[in-house]
Amino acid sequence: MTEVNKDLQRERNNCTFKPIELTHLLDGNAEKTAIRHEREEYFLSDPELKDKIPNSYKSHKELYEDAIRKGCVVLRKVKQLQDQGKGEIDLYTHVLGGMLGAALFKDGNPLTLHYVMFIPTIMGQGTIEQQGYWISRAWTCSIIGTYAQTELGHGTFIRGLETTATYDPDTCEFILHSPTRTSYKWWPGGLGHTANYAVVVAQLHTQGICRGIHPFIVQLRDEETHEPLPGIKIGEIGTKLGMNATNNGFLGFDRVRIPRENMLMKNAQVLEDGTYVKPATDKLTYGTMMFVRVLLVRDTARFLSKAVTIAIRYSAVRRQSQIKADAGECQIIDFVTQQYKLFPHLASCFSFMLSADWIWEMYNNVSAELHQGELERLPELHALTCCLKAVASSDAAMGVEQLRLACGGHGYMDASNLPGTYSLVTAICTYEGENTVMLLQTARYLIKACKQALAGDPLTPTKNPYSDGKY
Ligand SMILES: Cc1cc2nc3c(=O)[nH]c(=O)nc-3n(C[C@H](O)[C@H](O)[C@H](O)COP(=O)(O)OP(=O)(O)OC[C@H]3O[C@@H](n4cnc5c(N)ncnc54)[C@H](O)[C@@H]3O)c2cc1C
Repeated sequence: MTEVNKDLQRERNNCTFKPIELTHLLDGNAEKTAIRHEREEYFLSDPELKDKIPNSYKSHKELYEDAIRKGCVVLRKVKQLQDQGKGEIDLYTHVLGGMLGAALFKDGNPLTLHYVMFIPTIMGQGTIEQQGYWISRAWTCSIIGTYAQTELGHGTFIRGLETTATYDPDTCEFILHSPTRTSYKWWPGGLGHTANYAVVVAQLHTQGICRGIHPFIVQLRDEETHEPLPGIKIGEIGTKLGMNATNNGFLGFDRVRIPRENMLMKNAQVLEDGTYVKPATDKLTYGTMMFVRVLLVRDTARFLSKAVTIAIRYSAVRRQSQIKADAGECQIIDFVTQQYKLFPHLASCFSFMLSADWIWEMYNNVSAELHQGELERLPELHALTCCLKAVASSDAAMGVEQLRLACGGHGYMDASNLPGTYSLVTAICTYEGENTVMLLQTARYLIKACKQALAGDPLTPTKNPYSDGKY
């Protein structure tokens, strides 16, 4: 067994509470901690899932091939668990994503989008018949999908997307087209070489009128040969700050025809003759993004907690300089300036983790209400997920960078895992809604609440600081 550094052991001995109780609180309870440990052991101890050489020494091609290989091993192991009746495993939250995912796939994975965006979008936006057909194929990985919304020209302003889906009533088909270079899809994870299907967000045209953006399932590659289908232009976008195994790609359409049934029609519909049926509310279209933002709050909290743990342990074992002359070199954790760098981020971890649990519960409650046709709390959930995703990810990204700096030169080494953690967490500031825009949406919601308050209208509990409902 490795001997624990004496300074670190002494700090641990000084702890005034039982750390295991805190662990149970964060996991939910003792049983959930045990399940997590068992699952981590099951995946992380598998020699097939260990990196033989560090990612930074691999070529781009090796990095991708290794991520795909490991992805397949993980899916096989999940199936083995399910066959043994070890309960349902939520692939995203427990294995491909979250902390276990970040440990297994240090630079992202091309299969994650399939589970985190493709399947949830079909679940959220497909009719029961569409779910029945596509989900069974997607769960068995007979098809691998991604989510193609962002274009070279437009990311934030999605009303500005240029890809068109024009309905042809003669053949009951949609024609997908990229009219300009800026209309090329740009960024979808797994698109470069992995996905053979995508949910494509495009401007719907029917009966000569543009009806705004809608989601369509489009086949991109042949299911046998994996070659791009006619009219599909596809490739990888290039290397990035991080997530280099995610295989983000570009995609263009040259008048590609898909059947009418491939438009996800739970909310809006196009009838056979081209008649357009509007959704009850536009906000339902953004359901998948809300779901992912909810998951991201927990991910950011975990990334920050990982960096805090590394930096605090390092600060306990690192000795440098003197506080008192002749007293020898001190642990750097004893410098007040170091404590200011470390401890606020430790506090943030707890606040983000508790907020993540709270918003997850609210998301599930509001989703249940939506199934009953109640849309009342949707704007509130939208504003809260925007706000929490933006605040947690920007604080976590800044936090990880500050914690890296708090480890001096060693924090700059890949071996500290701080550069890699930063590259993963800072990406969250941009995807699923760029943070400035998320904060502006929150501000708009708050201004509206302010007007409601001034008019004496009732406010929902999250907007009203007074528990008695008066203000
Ligand atoms: C790692 C990663 C993975 C991604 N994966 C996917 C994916 O799988 N599928 C997909 O479809 N997309 C994906 N994206 C794309 C992502 O959703 C977009 O990058 C994001 O929405 C921002 O759009 P943009 O890049 O066009 O930036 P822009 O919209 O051009 O924004 C640039 C800057 O302009 C400012 N700005 C823009 N609009 C406003 C405004 N209204 N008010 C104030 N300031 C503004 C902000 O400072 C912003 O940072 C991914 C991106 C990254 C980084």
